Amino acid sequence: RVDAERMVREILESVRFLPQADRMQVIVNIEGADFYTDKTRLEIILKNLISNSFRYMDFTKSDPFIRIEGVVSETCMNISVADNGIGIARQHIRKVFDMFYRAVEHSKGTGIGLFLVKESVKMLRGRISVKSSLGEWTVFYLNLPNLRQGNVNTPESEAVILDEMI
Ligand code: ATP
Ligand code: MG
Repeated sequence: RVDAERMVREILESVRFLPQADRMQVIVNIEGADFYTDKTRLEIILKNLISNSFRYMDFTKSDPFIRIEGVVSETCMNISVADNGIGIARQHIRKVFDMFYRAVEHSKGTGIGLFLVKESVKMLRGRISVKSSLGEWTVFYLNLPNLRQGNVNTPESEAVILDEMI
């Protein structure tokens, strides 16, 4: 059993050492039922999404924010990680989950984070997609099945990584 809200808050604690962190407004809202999944893999996913939002923030904006919202039901968890950072250009967005792919040149980062996210989502039989507007905002949508014992509704036939299929 995983307490998703607690996990998110622990991850936020761990990225607070980042120099920019205190300028960010952070909104967390996760509600709903008990959620069962592989804790380590969920942690990999959320940690990468959240640290990306911090890393690709645009501090020329007066109100930089990250918003993490989730709803857990008997069958699944839908969670989104949104920010109003630098955004991702149209020509890059389909490739951000590829290994070593990076949309812009940065001093840090290897381009492996979202590849690990994609592999972890696959292993948990979930789905992930991303939408963005360059210079404005980015949102990652994550859908994971609730792997509680005896849950026959696990949507195995829906185990598709949206952006990989295009
Ligand atoms: P690392 O391996 O350290 O995570 P990385 O952050 O460069 O390196 P990914 O996490 O795989 O690699 O992300 C791939 C690319 O997608 C990034 O280099 C960045 O260009 C873009 N990206 C990811 N998340 C965001 C975001 N929230 N806002 C804007 N661009 C993003
Ligand atoms: Mg990253």
